Amino acid sequence: MSKTIKSYTLSNVRTIPQLASLSPELIREMEITGRALPFKTNNYVTDELIDWSNIDSDPVFTLNFPRREMLEKRHYAAIEKLVDQQVGDEALSRKVQQIRLSLNPNPAGQEQNVPLLGEIRLRGIQHKYPETVLFFPSQGQTCHAYCTFCFRWPQFSGMSELKFAMKETGLFLNYLRLHKDVTDILFTGGDPMIMSAGALETYIKPLLQSEFSHIRSIRIGTKSLTYWPYRYLTDKDSDDLFRLFDSIIAAGKHLSIQAHFNHPVELSTLAVGQAIARLRSAGAQIRTQSPLLRHINDKPELWSEMWRKQVDAGCIPYYMFVVRDTGARHYFELPLEKCWNIFRRAYRQVSGLCRTVRGPSMSHYAGKIQVLGVQDVRGEKVFVLRFIQARNPRWVDIPFFAAYDPKATWFDQLKPAFGEKFFFEEQNPKWLTEKQFLFE
Ligand SMILES: *Cc1c(COP(=O)(O)O)cnc(C)c1O
Ligand code: SF4
Repeated sequence: MSKTIKSYTLSNVRTIPQLASLSPELIREMEITGRALPFKTNNYVTDELIDWSNIDSDPVFTLNFPRREMLEKRHYAAIEKLVDQQVGDEALSRKVQQIRLSLNPNPAGQEQNVPLLGEIRLRGIQHKYPETVLFFPSQGQTCHAYCTFCFRWPQFSGMSELKFAMKETGLFLNYLRLHKDVTDILFTGGDPMIMSAGALETYIKPLLQSEFSHIRSIRIGTKSLTYWPYRYLTDKDSDDLFRLFDSIIAAGKHLSIQAHFNHPVELSTLAVGQAIARLRSAGAQIRTQSPLLRHINDKPELWSEMWRKQVDAGCIPYYMFVVRDTGARHYFELPLEKCWNIFRRAYRQVSGLCRTVRGPSMSHYAGKIQVLGVQDVRGEKVFVLRFIQARNPRWVDIPFFAAYDPKATWFDQLKPAFGEKFFFEEQNPKWLTEKQFLFE
C-alpha cells in the first residue's frame, strides 16, 4: 500500500490530529520557539514514531518539535514579546534573523573546507580529508523533517547566502578529474534522499564512467530511514531509485548509506524494517551514526539497544558524535566526560559486531577528535584524545592529552595537559591553511 507524505510546518501545525491532546500552552510555546528554530515534520513521524501519550519525554517529539527550553530565555522572551505585540512579519523576521546569527549557524569553520577550482570557489563541495569529498547537491538542501539539534539549519531557514548548494555538476566533476586521490564521494545536505531518482541520477551516473574509476565508494548521508522509509518502498520513483543503486553496484563501486538514527524507536516500525531489507538486498551497506543528545538518547542502554537492533537488521554502527556547537546546543549538550561514560557503558554491553562504532567524536575544525577516556597520568587527571580524521592525515591515531575539565562540552574548552601545547599546534603553523595535505 502506498503512503503519501503530508508535511507539517509552522503554518499548518495545528492540523496535526494528535496535537489536540496537547495543552494550549505547550502548543503556543512550540509556535514561538519554532519562529527561530526550523520546524518540519510529517505524517509518518506523527503517526508511527511519536508516542503522544508521553510527550514530556518522547524522544521523537523532542527530535522534531521545538520546545521552549531549546531557546535561551532571553531569546524566547524577545520573540514572545514581538508576537504578543503583533508587530508584523518584518520586525519579527529581523529579530529572528538576529537570534539565528547568534546561534553559530556554521560551526567548525565549514567555510574553510570549501575548495577552489582555479579561481572559482566550489560552494557545493567540502574537501577536508584527502580521500573523501562532500557534495551538497542544490536540490538536496532540505529534509523530510527537521531535527531540533541540527547544525545544517541555515540551509533551510532562508539564510541563502550561507547555502553550500551547487547546481553545476560540471564543476564538481572537473574537481574530481583533478583529484585522483579522492576515493569517496559523500552526498549530503540537508538530505540527498529528498531528491527524485532522476535528480540523483544526474549527479551519480557520470561518476560511474571509467574516467572516475578512482571513485570507489558512493556514500549517501540520510535520515530518510527515520523520517520517510517509504522513500525506499512506495514513492512513485522508488523502483527507479533502486535501478540507480543497481547501476552503482554493477559499476563495481561500493554504495554506503550513512544513516542517521538517534533512538531505537526509529528502528521499530514495519516500514523501516522493509526499507532496510530492500537496501541490503540491493547490495548497499548501511552504516549508522548519531550525536549523543541530552533529552533524547543520553542513556547507555538506549545506545546498546540501538546498536544491537542495527546489527540484527544488517547495519554497521559507525559513529557516535558529540553534539555540535550550534543552534539549540545548550539544551542537548553533555560534558565530554559524561559522553565518554555513556559510550563505554554501552560499548561494553554489546558484542564485537556492534563495536565497529567509534566515539564519542567531535567534528572539530582540526578533525574528528575522539574522547578515548579520562585517566590519571603521574598524578594529573587528563582526557586522552585522538584524531580519527584530521586535516593533516599524519595526526591521525596519535594519542594526546588535555587537562581534565568536568564541565567541558567541546574541544575548544580544553587546555593541553602538563602545561604543554597540543602536538598539532607545535607543527608547521601553516596547518591552518586549506588543503595543506595536498602538498605533503
Ligand atoms: C566525517 C567527515 C568525512 C567522512 O569521514 P569518514 O571517517 O571517512 O566517515 C568527510 N568529510 C568531512 C568534512 C567530515 O566531517
Ligand atoms: S536530517 Fe540531518 S540535515 Fe536534516 S534536519 Fe536532521 S540533522 Fe539536519
